[in-house]
Amino acid sequence: LRANFSTTKKENGRINGIIAVIHDVTEQEQVEMERREFVANVSHELRTPLTTMKSYLEALQDGAVNDEKLARKFIDVTQMETERMIRLVNDLLQLSKLDAKDYSITPQRTDFIAFCNHIVDRFEMSKRQNIHFVRKLPKKPIYVDIDRDKMTQVIDNIYSNAMKYSPEGGSITLKVTKKGQYLKVCISDEGVGIPKENLSKVFIRFYRVDKARSRKLGGTGLGLAIAKEMIEAQGGEIWAESEWNKGTSILFTLPLDKGGDHRD
Ligand code: ADP
Repeated sequence: LRANFSTTKKENGRINGIIAVIHDVTEQEQVEMERREFVANVSHELRTPLTTMKSYLEALQDGAVNDEKLARKFIDVTQMETERMIRLVNDLLQLSKLDAKDYSITPQRTDFIAFCNHIVDRFEMSKRQNIHFVRKLPKKPIYVDIDRDKMTQVIDNIYSNAMKYSPEGGSITLKVTKKGQYLKVCISDEGVGIPKENLSKVFIRFYRVDKARSRKLGGTGLGLAIAKEMIEAQGGEIWAESEWNKGTSILFTLPLDKGGDHRD
């Protein structure tokens, strides 16, 4: 807190009072600090792939280009890094729109169970690694008002993390239940897990438990931050539960469609 003092005077010039204006500078300073940290993070995140690309391009220039096998490998690396930068910039643009409230939520009445089945089908079809997709879904439809594109992105982000951190042959389980006026969605994996003290931090922009590992897996560090913004914009909450070395669950809630039939 910062206080500015001034005095009030009577007509004859004598002081008859003091005015104290108290500013809450801590909040301003906090915002400024976060902004600086964010810019530093973005710069760092962009510099890392750029530095990698530069050294691979230099190696190509210094002769690696004549070794076909090596050249191909180096080009693949630069391509991967370019793709990661594009993902990063896209994620940043999206977050900046979310921050500026420069987006619209287009809620559509949706049977969430059919919607989930469709998304999991898509992951099952495209799976590149040995992973079992388990569905624990109610038999009957459950209706919610959701922005389908945004919700697809939330679930995509959570699933792609679960796949990245899953062991060979692991299971990813999607469970949907009703809790009062809310729908509860839980996506669990059997991967490395997240230490207890880091659980709430994974929703902070650029926060990663293991930076090197996240980069190696192609992460931008923004996936869960975007998911959080999108869930909250639709009236829900999101959080993580985990047991180190046993697996991670990302859970979120969504308000049930009041007009719809969601009796048991
Ligand atoms: P990233 O692009 O690094 O995956 P996210 O915002 O999606 O960024 O996730 C933030 C961090 O949370 C990750 O870097 C990782 O440390 C941790 N994390 C997220 N999902 C999982 C998971 N399923 N298993 C283990 N760690 C996870």
